[in-house]
Amino acid sequence: MTDQALYWRRPGQDWASAVTESAVAASVLTGDLFVTGDAVREASRDFGRVVDRRPHAVLRPRTAEDVAKVVRFCHDHRVPLAPQGTGHMTQGQRLVEAGVAVDVTALRTIRGHGPGWVDVDAGVLWSDLVRTLAAAGRRFAGGLTGYLPVSVGGTLSAGGVGPDCHNGAQIDFVERIQIVTGSGDIVWASEREHPTLFNAALGGIGQVGVITRAVLKVTALPTGVRSWVLPYTDQVAAFAVMRELLDRGTLDEVFCVVAPPGTLAPVPTFLLHLAHYEDGAGAPREGFVDGLYPRGPVQEERTDYVSHVTKYSAIMERWQREERWDDCVKPWFDVWHADAVIDSFVGDVLGQMTAEDWSLPHGKGFVLLMPHRAGVFRRSRLRLPQQGPDDWVWLFDVLTSSQPDPDPLFTEKMLRRNQNWLNAARRAGGFAYPVGSQVFTPEDWRHHYGDTWDEVVRTKKIHDPARILTPGPGINAALP
Ligand SMILES: Cc1cc2nc3c(=O)[nH]c(=O)nc-3n(C[C@H](O)[C@H](O)[C@H](O)COP(=O)(O)OP(=O)(O)OC[C@H]3O[C@@H](n4cnc5c(N)ncnc54)[C@H](O)[C@@H]3O)c2cc1C
Repeated sequence: MTDQALYWRRPGQDWASAVTESAVAASVLTGDLFVTGDAVREASRDFGRVVDRRPHAVLRPRTAEDVAKVVRFCHDHRVPLAPQGTGHMTQGQRLVEAGVAVDVTALRTIRGHGPGWVDVDAGVLWSDLVRTLAAAGRRFAGGLTGYLPVSVGGTLSAGGVGPDCHNGAQIDFVERIQIVTGSGDIVWASEREHPTLFNAALGGIGQVGVITRAVLKVTALPTGVRSWVLPYTDQVAAFAVMRELLDRGTLDEVFCVVAPPGTLAPVPTFLLHLAHYEDGAGAPREGFVDGLYPRGPVQEERTDYVSHVTKYSAIMERWQREERWDDCVKPWFDVWHADAVIDSFVGDVLGQMTAEDWSLPHGKGFVLLMPHRAGVFRRSRLRLPQQGPDDWVWLFDVLTSSQPDPDPLFTEKMLRRNQNWLNAARRAGGFAYPVGSQVFTPEDWRHHYGDTWDEVVRTKKIHDPARILTPGPGINAALP
């Protein structure tokens, strides 16, 4: 353990981790503070490789108290501060220029779990949590994101949406969070204790505090998972089958990966990914995919739960090893749409997509469609189209990437594309899922939060009075 002090040298407006005469404040930390080296380099970028912003200092805390001391310091000196998870948002949402980055992944203890709960530090990776719970016959009760080596605090700040189509977002399965507010107070929040703070933090992109710990809901592990992939070469059929399956309600996961034209067929191929979690009770059920008339061979498998939920992470880890995927520029596009408009929006976008949009030939990417039942989402910071409770909302992602070298204009073109698509989506009542590379102006944020904007402003005023927290998304700049 290193005892370190944090100093702010006034005239040069400089950070230092050693005592100097010009130090105006000090607070002893049990974690580590870096002002140079790999820690700072790492904290200056994210997975998108689109934006770089260099913090003055990076805190790797050992305790929530470390976080609180640094936040208090930043609050008093009006220094911007951003919590950082694994950096898998793609447009600099976790970055902070000339401020302090708090590397929450340094807090990564799974503190305990029982039949209905697990208590974790916010820097725990979902990939670790899933395995620990499975070893005890348990799983997180909500859905999991496709890629699992991301932090609990990071996905709770985003929303956390996966192929599980019946249960809403991960933030709907949180009992309590421990959060260090923008004034440096360590607070436990839940639906009963500090409910406004609880609601503002979940899906709130780090605007009201640093989540340091969370108690999540847990349920029994399935005895196995049966899964299928069904191909369709026309969009109408693919949507009809997904809706039929959603209405039947017998599957736990329904989502679609769209393969580029020229790979499996001359046209885009809609690969429906379906799964059923077995509970071991009674005779195994059959007939899940009967009568669906796929346009090619059906892939079917039965695996254990952990193999099932880690299979997409394994694909991406292979890309990282073999395709320099980490280095790729990833100007990703993510939008929520109502059931009534998703077909036409997807049709329009797919119709416009060039090889480059499909990540060809210099990258690796996905085009994804994830339907979810609208009525089960309960947290207002995750913005969704207006729907009846039994209707479906769809998350549509175009996750384009390219090696950085071939086309210097690639990023610019893709950001312009995203802006055009987002404008079209908004006109049709859609909402950005702000994890990707849509650049928001202040007006965009006010529009995004709509009739909840006053509440966003109010909670910022209370819990981040100095407006130091998480400048990356640009919400601070939109405040009155
Ligand atoms: C390959 C890939 C697949 C993905 N698949 C999915 C998917 O299926 N579903 C889905 O919903 N998302 C998905 N995502 C997006 C992912 O869930 C978000 O990017 C999420 O935020 C990642 O967590 P992180 O630890 O990387 O957070 P970071 O990117 O580090 O941070 C995200 C934001 O949250 C803030 N933040 C981070 N930690 C905290 C904290 N402890 N307290 C308060 N604020 C914090 C940061 O300041 C930043 O603004 C995917 C991303 C990738 C790269």
